[in-house]
Amino acid sequence: MVYERSCVVKKFLLFLFIFLTMALRVNAEPVVYNTNTQKVHKTHCQHAKKCTVNCIKIERQDAYKRGGKPCKVCGG
Ligand SMILES: [Zn+2]
Repeated sequence: MVYERSCVVKKFLLFLFIFLTMALRVNAEPVVYNTNTQKVHKTHCQHAKKCTVNCIKIERQDAYKRGGKPCKVCGG
């Protein structure tokens, strides 16, 4: 009984670890930030590909720290 419970806790911690790792990875993923409109795009977004003048590639968390707004097409 005790063994089973610790096994469940271990599985839960492993799940939590994987979840947090993935969450951090999403935050650190580079995005295309339009410094003019302040829109944040995923790198594969059609608008990001069109945007060549005002756009910079930075980390997602930095883009939102600068006041970035998520793109309505790709979700930012
Ligand atoms: Zn977009």
